Amino acid sequence: MRITFLGNWSSNIVKGKRYTSFIIDNSIVFDFGPGILESLLDHDINPLGISVVAITHMHLDHFAGLPELLWFRAIYGAQRPLVILGPGKIRENTLMLLELLNTPPAFNVSAEYVEDDSFETVVNGRKLLIEPFRAEHIIPDNGYRIEYGDTLLFYSGDTAYSKSVVKAAEDVDYLIHEMTYTDDKDAEARFWKHSTYSDVMRVFHESRARHLVPIHLSNYTEPLAGELAQRQRGIIIYLSTLVV
Ligand SMILES: [Zn+2]
Repeated sequence: MRITFLGNWSSNIVKGKRYTSFIIDNSIVFDFGPGILESLLDHDINPLGISVVAITHMHLDHFAGLPELLWFRAIYGAQRPLVILGPGKIRENTLMLLELLNTPPAFNVSAEYVEDDSFETVVNGRKLLIEPFRAEHIIPDNGYRIEYGDTLLFYSGDTAYSKSVVKAAEDVDYLIHEMTYTDDKDAEARFWKHSTYSDVMRVFHESRARHLVPIHLSNYTEPLAGELAQRQRGIIIYLSTLVV
């Protein structure tokens, strides 16, 4: 399986970075902020090949690029049906965004929506099971436990340290966890319900995940994530593509 990281940055966006998003085998994508459609094209991945989009929560940096994907699908005549997973109201809010953006009535922007529920299908001959677990953010955030073939992953979305995340991430092969703040920014992290370096390491150890991919980085945590990857086994800093 191939995991392509389309972006690894938090909402404190800076030049040259894209918001956090990754895609498995060019068809199952997690989070879709502004610029992710362009990132797919930059990686030579055809957006029409996407069959599942899982949104962790409806903040701009994780959600607001979804209408771009729906417009692209309508303009280029997507044939493959699309399933959109997310917290409650993902359908209502997506349709509201499409309306605000004056989406032409002739555009086919249909999709199947799955709210706060698990989803199972077969992709490329492998079983795919995506289960949502409520994380700890300032708005409802679904972390996702992903079973794909014989690989287990957990993606946190945005969250403070959370026992429910630890439980949902137990024994996964890859823990993809947000690391927005360094420990000296603990107060900010608590206020915004994000994770510091120590929060992430605690989840990594308590969940017994085999590998950690720190994501949703900032100018504070990017250098730290790079250092960590060099000195601690099992930690993988953002790579454009991870083949497992
Ligand atoms: Zn975010």
